[in-house]
Amino acid sequence: MTYLDNGATSMNKPQAVLDAVRCALENCANPGRGGHTAAMTAARTVLRCRERAAQLFGCKPEQVVFTANCTQGLNMAIRTLVKPGDKVAVSGFEHNAVVRPLYALGAKTVVAGRKLFDPVDTLERFEDALRRGAKAAVFTHVSNVFGYILPVEELAALCRQYRVPFVLDAAQSAGMLPVDMEKLGADFIAMPGHKGLLGPQGTGLLLCADRLEPLLFGGTGSDSKNPGMPDYLPERGEAGTLNVPGIAGLSAGITYVQRVGIHKIFEKQQRQARRCASALERLGFRVFSGREQGGTVSFVPDRDCEEAAELLAQRGVAVRAGLHCAPLAHESAGTLETGTVRVSFGHDAAPWQTGNLLLALETLPKR
Ligand code: PLP
Repeated sequence: MTYLDNGATSMNKPQAVLDAVRCALENCANPGRGGHTAAMTAARTVLRCRERAAQLFGCKPEQVVFTANCTQGLNMAIRTLVKPGDKVAVSGFEHNAVVRPLYALGAKTVVAGRKLFDPVDTLERFEDALRRGAKAAVFTHVSNVFGYILPVEELAALCRQYRVPFVLDAAQSAGMLPVDMEKLGADFIAMPGHKGLLGPQGTGLLLCADRLEPLLFGGTGSDSKNPGMPDYLPERGEAGTLNVPGIAGLSAGITYVQRVGIHKIFEKQQRQARRCASALERLGFRVFSGREQGGTVSFVPDRDCEEAAELLAQRGVAVRAGLHCAPLAHESAGTLETGTVRVSFGHDAAPWQTGNLLLALETLPKR
């Protein structure tokens, strides 16, 4: 299979990830729930992952809260910062993992910056929203539909300037672009463990500056006489048994990414995405590309998107079609009615993948 759906989740995980999951299943009991060898092995496994994540993302180990995915982290962050009726500035490229929690809370979402691949517009519109009294901001680092890399350092600086707390959605950038909690001065950074960090599904990280309102309440293996959740991190955000096999795999994924180097991974992806975009343009499709773009390219094919993706799947090429859980991004780009076919490269991006996609496209029945 030519797997080009890394925006959804990464496949072709490094062998070390598979080995770590197996090793945890064989050797780990419940971390923080006992002093015996298997519980202590689990606790060390979890701590090692926290430390690796902290090193990669410029924060302290205790600021790393394990979640089940990026969505859970975004919900926790948003619930901490936003009250019903608050104005919240978001980019025009947010995933439903941001839009829906805000909607459920009854926040007034202010969409700031809808022009694709236009960081100047993104910054101007955001500043406008912050000046007009937004109480919080939430923005994605990279659009999951179009691969647009938002100017997050400048957005973070604007939020700091206007003293507006903010959440960064690093779902599509963790493991691909530098993300530094301290440098950004973020209140929260949410990310999945199962995409660019190459961990198993069921893993995610929420980096927390200091405060955090729990979403779940329950045992943490600490402060047990307290009927409330511990008031310290990371336990405040980690009720219930952790996904230790997943965390072990995530730890190995982070180590792999660090060893290969984020810049190298990014360059590989971007090179293929650019090659792919030019070739798709030559084939006559409407392609969304720009300078500020990572390893993801969307295009509108000459037929229904789902049909195109299905035909590609029959030819061994895995892409995603439709709205990609981000109707706001499609509204911004004018593709809400058609959707797009999304090609998203991963850590293993290579010319043969682009070649296979193009070959498959050329063999589609003519319209
Ligand atoms: N945010 C963005 C930009 C995404 O692309 C995704 C998933 O595709 C999410 C949030 C949600 O991630 P998860 O599926 O890990 O909850």
